[in-house]
Amino acid sequence: MSKKVLVVSEIRDGEYRNISFEAIAAAKQMADGGEIVGVLLGKSVSEHAKEMVHFGADRVITVEHDHLSHYTPEGYTQALHSVVEQEKPDGLLMGHTSIGRDLAPKLASRLKSGLVSDVVSLEVAGEEVIFTRPIYSGKAFEKVVVSDGLLFATLRPNNIAALEKDESLSSTVESLDVEIKDLQTIIKEVVKNTASGVDLSEASVIVAGGRGMKGEENFKILDELAEVLNGAVGASRGACDAEYCDYALQIGQTGKVVTPDLYIAVGLSGAIQHVAGMSNSKVIVAINKDPEAEIFQIADYGIVGDLFDVIPKLTAEFKKVLV
Ligand code: FAD
Repeated sequence: MSKKVLVVSEIRDGEYRNISFEAIAAAKQMADGGEIVGVLLGKSVSEHAKEMVHFGADRVITVEHDHLSHYTPEGYTQALHSVVEQEKPDGLLMGHTSIGRDLAPKLASRLKSGLVSDVVSLEVAGEEVIFTRPIYSGKAFEKVVVSDGLLFATLRPNNIAALEKDESLSSTVESLDVEIKDLQTIIKEVVKNTASGVDLSEASVIVAGGRGMKGEENFKILDELAEVLNGAVGASRGACDAEYCDYALQIGQTGKVVTPDLYIAVGLSGAIQHVAGMSNSKVIVAINKDPEAEIFQIADYGIVGDLFDVIPKLTAEFKKVLV
């Protein structure tokens, strides 16, 4: 049976996050020929609506409000709840991003719905949609079927390929007025404390440093390698705890979960809590001076050596080929 599926997209600094388009592709699978409705929340977001159509949304609803200019769980939950009440969808998808992880459970509780979080793939078998999600810090996968009610899921970025962009597609864009009231928090301004660059959770290449980096100043050799590869720099909690870098870079169970095409783990041991955030990377390269380091157990390629020797050589070689 065909289904109506809402896809909540995310725009940051005027640009879509890829997960918005990946979620449309997932929704197409789920909808089984039904309707995909893109949802854009924010302030002055309507100008971006047609991009969702180019990636496969049949229709887009924009909700613009002063209280949506910055994400707040209360404001976004109220707005999205209004959209769900109006549309009465069969399915609802959003990214398993910082916002999605915060917003989805709150909305699910308000809708008295279940929620399947951190989905990495889905398949349709007859009437059922089967969601696959990692469990036990990525050591196993479980398949989940929603037996009743809304098919509500968050999707891990970088796991489901977006559809080809087709600029010839066009459709209607509707705006919905919502009431947002009784907010306990209003965000006036967001000040970033990390340098802008490639977004860690959507990067296709990540160079991550651990405690073996031995100092904040040494992270610049990772910056150089990441720049040549057009990637992002990440870190273990060991490196963050040692104040070599900001916690915004932390990857793992209590940090970001990433799925790049290439993950270069540098001077980090591969503790289970770190591996939980990166084990689904497509190709893992580990550089560690200890041949017994656990990270080598999940690495596709390993270099046993001193990172201060290996990294500059790698950067120089990649420069010859790529720059
Ligand atoms: P270490 O374990 O100290 O490893 C450093 C590595 O660098 C060693 O393998 C060493 O051989 C190598 N090395 C040293 N010098 C060099 C050199 N010159 N060249 C090459 N290699 C070198 N950790 C996370 O990363 N993310 C999380 O989200 C996370 N969440 C946690 C949640 C909980 C509840 C707990 C209890 C822990 C969590 N941790 C997390 C911490 C985790 O258990 C580890 O302590 C941490 O990952 C270790 O960081 P590290 O690998 O950088 O440091």
